[in-house]
Amino acid sequence: MTPRMNSKWNGQFSCFDLVARVHEKAGDGVGAPLRTIVRVREIEIGGNDFVVMAGPCAVESETQLLQTAEAVAEAGARILRGGAYKPRSSPYSFQGLGVEGLKLLRKAREATGLAIVTEVMSEEDVDLIADYADIMQVGSRSMENYALLEAVGQCGRPVLLKRGMTATLEEFLRSAQVIAMAGNLQIILCERGIRTFETATRNTLDIAAVPVLKAVSHLPVIVDPSHAAGVRSLVPVLARAAAVVGADGLIVEVHPCPEQALSDGEQSLTFHEFRQMMDDIEPYLDLQQESRQLRPQLLAVGGAE
Ligand code: PEP
Ligand code: MN
Repeated sequence: MTPRMNSKWNGQFSCFDLVARVHEKAGDGVGAPLRTIVRVREIEIGGNDFVVMAGPCAVESETQLLQTAEAVAEAGARILRGGAYKPRSSPYSFQGLGVEGLKLLRKAREATGLAIVTEVMSEEDVDLIADYADIMQVGSRSMENYALLEAVGQCGRPVLLKRGMTATLEEFLRSAQVIAMAGNLQIILCERGIRTFETATRNTLDIAAVPVLKAVSHLPVIVDPSHAAGVRSLVPVLARAAAVVGADGLIVEVHPCPEQALSDGEQSLTFHEFRQMMDDIEPYLDLQQESRQLRPQLLAVGGAE
C-alpha cells in the first residue's frame, strides 16, 4: 500500500537533493530510513547516542576553559564548545581571543579528551580553525554567508550549521545543500531559536523544527536551548523538550561563574546546574525512542491507505 505523501514537506525540499530525504521510495514505507551519521573521532552524532556539547560562549582564559572542560566532561558531555572568534551584535562587546583561544581549546582537548567545536566567521579563517577544531560551527548570523558555506564545504571537517534567526527551514536546508554541494556531507543541523514577536525569551525555540527536519532530511539535528532561552532557568526544560522530540543532541553554554562571563552569562549554566540537567534528562531520552518511531508517519498524510 502506498502512503499518501505530505506534498508540503516532500515536494518543498526535494530540490535540495543532497540533504533532503529524496531517496526513499514512496511505496516502501517500512524500510529503515537512511541516516547520516557524523563521526568525530569515536563520537557518532545522528546514531543512537544523544551527544551533548557544552562549554562557555567565549573562551576567556586558560583557567575558565580548563575548569569548564573538566566539569562538563565529568557530567557526561562529549564535545567542548567555546568561541575564539565571536560574532557580537555590538562592536563594543568582547570579540574573542582569536588564535590564543584556539590554542586554549587544543589544550583543553589534550587535558580532557573532549572533541572541540568552535565558530568560524570568515572564509579566510577556515584553514586556521580547521587545524584546531574537530567541528566547524557556522553561526546563525553566518547561515547565509555563501563564501563561508562553500569554504567549510571543502575543509574536511564536520560542520555544525546553526539556523539563521530569521530563516525558514527551507532556507536552512538550502544552506546545508550549499555545504554539501561543495563536497561535505558531514553536516549537523542546529535549531537555536528564531526571532518572533515574543520577547519574553531571547528567541522562540521552534521545537517542531526538530521532528520536521528529522523527517525531511537525513542529517542529524541538535538543539541549542541556551540561545533560544536567553535565561539559564529555562535551559534544562528546553533541553528535555529537545530530547523528547527526537533531537540527536544539544549544545549548551556553561561557565564557572556566569555573572562574570564576558558573553552570554545570563543564559550560561553553572557547573552544578549543568550536572543536574544531565542527570535529569535520562527519562526523557527514553521517551525519545517513541518519537523516533513516529517519525516515518510525519511524511505520510493520514498514514498508509
Ligand atoms: C554561539 O553559539 O555562541 C552563538 C553565537 O550562537 P548563534 O550563532 O546561534 O547566535
Ligand atoms: Mn553565546
